Amino acid sequence: MQWLNNLLTRYTLKHHPLNHAQWQALMASSPLFSHLSAVEKAHLRELTILFLQHKHFTGARGLEVDDTIKIAIAAQACLLLINLNFDYFDDWSDVVVYPDSFKVRHHQTDELGIVSDEEQTLGGEAWLKGPVIIAWDSAAAELQAPQRGHNVVIHEFAHKLDMLNGKANGMPPLHTDMPRQEWTQALSSAFDALQQQIQRGHRTLIDPYAATSAAEFFAVCSELFFSAPQKLHHAFPKVYEQLSLLYRQNTLKRQQPIRRPNNPSE
Ligand SMILES: [Zn+2]
Repeated sequence: MQWLNNLLTRYTLKHHPLNHAQWQALMASSPLFSHLSAVEKAHLRELTILFLQHKHFTGARGLEVDDTIKIAIAAQACLLLINLNFDYFDDWSDVVVYPDSFKVRHHQTDELGIVSDEEQTLGGEAWLKGPVIIAWDSAAAELQAPQRGHNVVIHEFAHKLDMLNGKANGMPPLHTDMPRQEWTQALSSAFDALQQQIQRGHRTLIDPYAATSAAEFFAVCSELFFSAPQKLHHAFPKVYEQLSLLYRQNTLKRQQPIRRPNNPSE
C-alpha cells in the first residue's frame, strides 16, 4: 500500500491550500527559519502541508486557532523532520492550543507505591500516542527570539520523537548507523555533569530544567539544537554531535555567516 500513500501524499502536496503570503510572512518573521537554504525551506513547506492535512487543531479556553497559529506550530514542529520524513509523526493526530499557560493535575506513584497528586502550570505537554498541547503566548514569544534557546513547540515534538519507541526516556529510535553506546555515553555524561553543576550551586550553561530527567534533557537539548545551537555546542559538544546525527542536520554550520573575501570584487 506504499504506492497508495505516495499517491495521496503527492495529491495533498499539490492541492492543499497553504496560503503563500502567510507562509512567506512566517519565514521572514523569525530568525528560526532565516538560515535555512531554499531547498530546506521547500522541504519544510511540504512537511508543513502534510502536518496541516493530517493533524487536527483544537483551541482551548475559547482560543480560535486560526491559520497563522496552525502554520507557525506546524512549521516549527516540522523543522525536526527536514531530513527525516513525515512518518515520524504518524502515531497521533491532535494538537491542542491554549492561549497561555495551563494547569494540569498529575497522579504519580513513587517507588514505595505512594500516589501523589500534583498540580503544575505548563507551557506545553506531549502525551504518549495522544495530543500535543501548546500555550500559544509562549510559542509566539519564542518564535521571535530563538537565540534565547527556548522553544516549547520543538520541546514537545522532540518528546513525540522520543515516544516513538515507548515512554519518553531520552532514547528515541536511533538510525542504524548510530551506535547506541555513543548516544548513551554522550547524553548520560552531560546529564550527570549538569546535575553536578546544579548540586554545587554553579551557574549552568543550559536551562536547569533539563536536569529533571533524561527525557527532559533530550527535549531541552533539542530546543537548543534548533534555536541556539552554539549554546548547546559550547555546553555539551558531544550531545550536539549526537543530535546532529539523529536529526541529520548541522544547525551550527547552517548559522555560521558566509565568509566574504577581504577585497570583494563587485
Ligand atoms: Zn518536557
